[in-house]
Amino acid sequence: MSSLTRRGFLARSNWLALAGLLPGSLSAAAASRRSDTAHASSPAGEDYYDKLGVTKIINAAGTYTYLTASVMPDSVRQAVERAALHPVRLKDLQRAAGEYVANKLHCESALISAGASSALTLGTAASIMLANKDVPSEQIILRIPSGIVGLKNEVIVQKAHRYDYDHALLNCGIKFVEVETLAQYESAFTSNTVLAHFFNSAEGGSIGREDWIRIAHKHGVPCMNDAAADVPPISNLWNYTRMGFDLVVFSGGKGIRGPQNAGLLLGKKELIAAAVQNDSPISETVGRGMKVAKEQVVGMVAAIDWLLAQSEEGMQIEVRRRADLIAKSVADIPTMQSRIFVPKVANRVPHLLLRYDPQRVGMTPVQVAEVLRRGTPSIEVNPATGTRERAGIPSDENTLVIGVWMLQDGEDEIVARRLREALQNARKS
Ligand SMILES: *Cc1c(COP(=O)(O)O)cnc(C)c1O
Repeated sequence: MSSLTRRGFLARSNWLALAGLLPGSLSAAAASRRSDTAHASSPAGEDYYDKLGVTKIINAAGTYTYLTASVMPDSVRQAVERAALHPVRLKDLQRAAGEYVANKLHCESALISAGASSALTLGTAASIMLANKDVPSEQIILRIPSGIVGLKNEVIVQKAHRYDYDHALLNCGIKFVEVETLAQYESAFTSNTVLAHFFNSAEGGSIGREDWIRIAHKHGVPCMNDAAADVPPISNLWNYTRMGFDLVVFSGGKGIRGPQNAGLLLGKKELIAAAVQNDSPISETVGRGMKVAKEQVVGMVAAIDWLLAQSEEGMQIEVRRRADLIAKSVADIPTMQSRIFVPKVANRVPHLLLRYDPQRVGMTPVQVAEVLRRGTPSIEVNPATGTRERAGIPSDENTLVIGVWMLQDGEDEIVARRLREALQNARKS
């Protein structure tokens, strides 16, 4: 099969054909699995999870922060270990890492932040500085957050893009100005506007990316895009800066699989330079508490190198292979319907949706999740399980959601077996 027809085939095979799916792709899947192993070499040192009595889990959920998001691949972990062996000048490391990443990701400039959330804060601080050029920058840095009243301090945002990370911007003392229509957006720009912020994976909002950028630029205002969880596809790492966003934010520890407390602020030279001025290790800054240690700076760079060496198709095939294996193991549970779903923007990887009649099976999806959590090893399934509340995944009270992309070698088989046991034994418990 050529890669094009294979892609077409993958796109069409949304509902699972359970037997013999993708036989021609198995070698590609195996190859991608080999390069993807996180545990290839056995680690040295004491196991502090065991020592502290903290339960290690199988992550069948996804890159959720509360589950420590992702596991670093071998090459990243080894780079972190080596970085720990030597002191360096932190500023030198930050500058070199930023230049390296900017070059790899085809943008003007880059900063390694302590995660997407702090990248949002630093990007906002940078925008405040640039908008208030008539005030000496040292003063502005000191005045953020509480002292910027009286300075230009307005951030325009779509009402539907107000979200869990508003606080990251509010940390700079800004005021949000909400808009809903294009006309409102056009007229929201004032002499106090510092930034137009966009939440990349927002479900609502009538104004698209191109219009968002075009109108902001017409008013000479920079645009920031929060694309924290929007890798894969790998190309998103340059798609949004190329589209014209002046600042783009990514989480380092989600799909990029770097350290969990690292992230990326990508964008225009002048803005990134201003962000650096508001960042650790400079003490009197809003970013001082967002320090990125040498190990995490290096880990972030190594994760970019690792990711750029992966094949998008190989990763997707491997993830589907795991989903197929788990679906197959529960195929004969009464009323079971399995489906693979790929979210449109964030977490754009195959998720396994298992829908069944809890009356017939004897256990609700939420109860199954609890059985898996209490067993050994402890398994966490996707938080969309048993609810319609989680955006992006079409789940409901009768649906169990398995996020397979963060599973490690062999864990798909454990999840398949334990899930089958839980469902088969439901009537007895
Ligand atoms: C996860 C996430 C963040 C925060 O990312 P961190 O790297 O944990 O700081 C911000 N915005 C969105 C949309 C996210 O999904």
